[in-house]
Amino acid sequence: MPDAVYRLDPDGRFAYLNPAAERMLGRRAEELLGRSARDAFPALRGSLAEEQYQQVLGDGRPREFHFFYEPLARWFEVRIFPDPAGAAVLFRDIDGRRRSDEERDAQLRGLSAVLEALPSPTVLVGPDGRILSANGAWTRSGEDLLPAVSWPGRPGEDYLTAMTRGLGPRAHAELTAGVRSLLGGATSSDGRTFSLDYSADGPTGPVFFHLQATRVDREGRVVITHTDVTEQVRARDDLVWKVRHDDLTGLPNRARLLELTGEALAAPGRTAGALLMIDLDGFKTINDSLGHQIGDELLRQVAGRLSEEIRPGDTVARLGGDQFVVLAHGCDASEAAALAFRLQTVFVQPFTSGEISVPLSASIGVAVARPDVVDAHHLLSDADAAMFAAKSSGRDRVHLFSPSLREAARWRLEVATRLRGDAIDQLVVHYQPVVRLDDGRIEGVEALVRWQHPERGLLAPDTFLSVAEETGQIIPITRWLLRETTRRAAEWAADGMPLRMSVNVSARHFSAETLVRDVRVALQQSGLPADQLVLELTETSVAEDPTRAEDQLSVLRRFGVRVAIDDFGTGWSSLAQLFSLPIGTLKIDRSLLAAAERVSVGDTGAVLAAIVGLTRTLGIRSVAEGIETPEHLRMVRAAGCDLAQGWLLGHPMPADRLREWVREVQRQGGDLCTLAVSGGAVPASR
Ligand code: C2E
Ligand code: CA
Ligand code: CA
Repeated sequence: MPDAVYRLDPDGRFAYLNPAAERMLGRRAEELLGRSARDAFPALRGSLAEEQYQQVLGDGRPREFHFFYEPLARWFEVRIFPDPAGAAVLFRDIDGRRRSDEERDAQLRGLSAVLEALPSPTVLVGPDGRILSANGAWTRSGEDLLPAVSWPGRPGEDYLTAMTRGLGPRAHAELTAGVRSLLGGATSSDGRTFSLDYSADGPTGPVFFHLQATRVDREGRVVITHTDVTEQVRARDDLVWKVRHDDLTGLPNRARLLELTGEALAAPGRTAGALLMIDLDGFKTINDSLGHQIGDELLRQVAGRLSEEIRPGDTVARLGGDQFVVLAHGCDASEAAALAFRLQTVFVQPFTSGEISVPLSASIGVAVARPDVVDAHHLLSDADAAMFAAKSSGRDRVHLFSPSLREAARWRLEVATRLRGDAIDQLVVHYQPVVRLDDGRIEGVEALVRWQHPERGLLAPDTFLSVAEETGQIIPITRWLLRETTRRAAEWAADGMPLRMSVNVSARHFSAETLVRDVRVALQQSGLPADQLVLELTETSVAEDPTRAEDQLSVLRRFGVRVAIDDFGTGWSSLAQLFSLPIGTLKIDRSLLAAAERVSVGDTGAVLAAIVGLTRTLGIRSVAEGIETPEHLRMVRAAGCDLAQGWLLGHPMPADRLREWVREVQRQGGDLCTLAVSGGAVPASR
């Protein structure tokens, strides 16, 4: 037996010593046998050892304890086993071991104090993978974040086992590999680290952690911190989300839509998909008249209804303003068109905001992916071109993209560019006579702009004015027109041919508020009397903002300028509102004439008569537009219209042609109505 052993008799006298005991006690057996231990080693009197020995004798049960023997200043481990002849005592010097344990404990206490000072949940893991110590933050994080699971582990527990409770299997595998590479193994150096980002399920959604494990000493202990980075992750995610979504509706925005479309187009073995561009009709008017708050509310509702209508996996995005786009996967042209019509039904029920019920409709452009379209921007601009075509063919329409639309889009772009350049110098004005229905005399002319395009020839206003409206070029164009036409009218008047000049003014100009000044400058420069100028405004342009319209019209009216409402019967303005404005003339759109003709051939048309009757009572003069046949002429005369305009009476023509033509009419008596109906008498006006 390597341990020291001796035996004592019931009186505490040495009965036996082995050689190890002799060595350890530094006495020979002959010296000690038969002597009482208290006498031989006086330092034992009243010591822990003696006390324990007495107890063993008292209850007959063995004892084991550590004992610091002062004369040697060393630690011993002592075991005492009682027997009928006294007791056997085994003891060994554990001083070295005891001291290194104490050192380690002190070191551990130091480390624990450092851990405690760290704000992040931190554990110290021993070389065997057990948690040696954990700080308060670690314990609290378990209580605050993950009360459902008994996480985190407590000292003594295996760290990696404890971590299975908060972590998914993949992250756990990564953690295991990383932590194992740091633990134990005296050859590996200190200071090596491993880090891992992971998330765990917290009571209010996922909690994100940044874990950092660092080997801190030679024995292979590792400090592991778990920093809660949930807020940073959320802030970053929020930002990422914001960059890709629309604030108002929460729908994906243009950037995200393009991303998704790009992915759909690039998908291997892709089946065709489509983009449907949805543009609300007349939404600007709603925003202007009901306010942006209601406008926003309506847009959110539209977003909601559209989202309900699409198939799972498809996407609704908002491009901004009143434009939405649906990305539909795996559908061909006819399926995409069917979807478009289904999306239109979303607008059948009016939308409501508070007490107000607002009917909405949308124009939808559909572009289906083709093999040659690989770029998301390309497909989106196809859908845009189709939507534009749907818009221009009237509200509430669906239009499918075709390459000719791309041609149209290219044309619009060319127009926009050219109008900004020299095109304004290529504009020409044609004049169409406006004729009095009582005596057939020419009352005046309407100025109609055309573009003398160097390659394409003479272009009608429809081909370029809508672009000019969009780009704002319509304002300088109209400014030029006002100068040109008033100058022309003043010249004709000086020549003995006074003709009242009607000029079309766009809504855009009206809301830009430079109209009053532009008119005044034109009148001053030309010297044309103000009452010889008529401004033609469409009813929709004044309906957009009636107060502003009224202000400007009153000022113009005070100068003496006349105001006509153009295309009456094509808009939806309130008659009461319209007639409260200071207007002098109402131009009845030719669609009303055509309608009257369809309803009752040979009759004057009750609608026409009613409108004319109304204008009469209000002291407003009426002009019938689009007189193409003698029957038209008869109808509008019978209805009591004051003036008329149309191909039967005279086509629009260039200024020089017009001057000759008027002279010719005068030579033939000046009654255009009679001349036109008798046929052939009116000189060809084209
Ligand atoms: P609008 O003001 O209603 O002009 C009348 C249009 O009807 C003219 O077409 C004219 O040529 C056409 N027209 C005249 N008589 C008849 C007829 O008997 N039958 C038919 N079917 N059509 C007839 P245009 O010149 O192509 O102008 C189209 C529109 O372009 C105008 O409609 C007006 O809204 C706009 N526009 C024309 N010139 C100007 C302009 O100088 N400034 C602005 N802002 N708009 C203009
Ligand atoms: Ca007009
Ligand atoms: Ca008109």
